[in-house]
Amino acid sequence: NNHRTRQPIRVLPPALAARIAAGEVIARPVSVVKELIENALDAGARQVQVEVRGGGLALIRVSDDGVGIPPQELPLACQRHATSKLLGDDLAQIRTLGFRGEALPSIAAVAELTMVSAADDSGIGRRLTLHDSTIVVDEPAPRPRGTTVTVRRLFQNVPARLAAAGRPQAEVALISQTVRRLALAAPHARMTLKVDERQVLQTSGSGDRATALIELYGPPLAGRLRPLGPIEVAGASISGLISDPEVTRPARDQVHIIVNGRWAQPRGLLATLEAAYRPLLPRGRHPLLILVIETEPDQVDVNIHPSKLEVRLLEEQAIARAVGELIRTVLGREPRSLRLAPRV
Ligand code: ADP
Ligand code: MG
Repeated sequence: NNHRTRQPIRVLPPALAARIAAGEVIARPVSVVKELIENALDAGARQVQVEVRGGGLALIRVSDDGVGIPPQELPLACQRHATSKLLGDDLAQIRTLGFRGEALPSIAAVAELTMVSAADDSGIGRRLTLHDSTIVVDEPAPRPRGTTVTVRRLFQNVPARLAAAGRPQAEVALISQTVRRLALAAPHARMTLKVDERQVLQTSGSGDRATALIELYGPPLAGRLRPLGPIEVAGASISGLISDPEVTRPARDQVHIIVNGRWAQPRGLLATLEAAYRPLLPRGRHPLLILVIETEPDQVDVNIHPSKLEVRLLEEQAIARAVGELIRTVLGREPRSLRLAPRV
């Protein structure tokens, strides 16, 4: 016999519903950083400055020199399911990193959000600040074309998320990893990361991925990267870089797959890559690898998970096979002693 009293069904107040829905999109500080950088890149930014304080819980700020948001549209940008990126209703034609219109409203639901944006060269833009999804500041603000988004007091109104966030150092490690991945996916953008007032990462925006890789992971890599491809498979263009067999990693953290400009983890492809280089490298070692796949948007499903990390390539098998072959050819040129893993 259940004696629980029952309350009538009610529709949740919008701010509360938004806070609950935000959970999927904004799980940790790093989610905010990722979404804001993706927005900057979608806006065509050539410069993206990222700033983090207190592991992202105190402050996250992303500034860009992209197309900006016209003042009359700024309030709309912070509303759920509002996007300028989905033209028509064709989810198969997504050419941008974002498309759901959920990041900014989700952030606004779990933090204090300030947006300053200008979409022309008048020097004046608009500033909006939202607390708990409600606009509390709305004023003109000086600003060259582009957008600055500042997120403060993240998760202060979601105790469980706040408790789940790790120490600032752990959050910073994740943030730094994500900035690197995005910088690698967008080598044309000059990206900087400042952590607690200290600049920790910087790319030049040269457009060259090998240069970006060296800027992000250190000069020792210079001269130790070999080109993969380019080849054409199933309508996709595939290129990339793989490190010399003696430059290996203890973990798979340096396997970067970039599909149509998006740093992604296509599972099947990762498994094939792993199988291809395993016999060519010492046991338990992994290469530093970048694989760049450019294909038609309708060949990629990015709408699998809110994080948009998991993507599915329609021709994943054919592509995986060709990439495996490519890796074997490039790494296979090494002398046997370097190439063969000791067998136990
Ligand atoms: P999505 O990226 O899925 O469209 P967001 O909530 O991230 O959804 O952003 C909503 C809209 O706000 C975007 O579609 C875009 O028009 C605008 N926007 C957000 N960030 C920027 C930015 N940095 N520069 C220009 N426009 C932006
Ligand atoms: Mg977005």
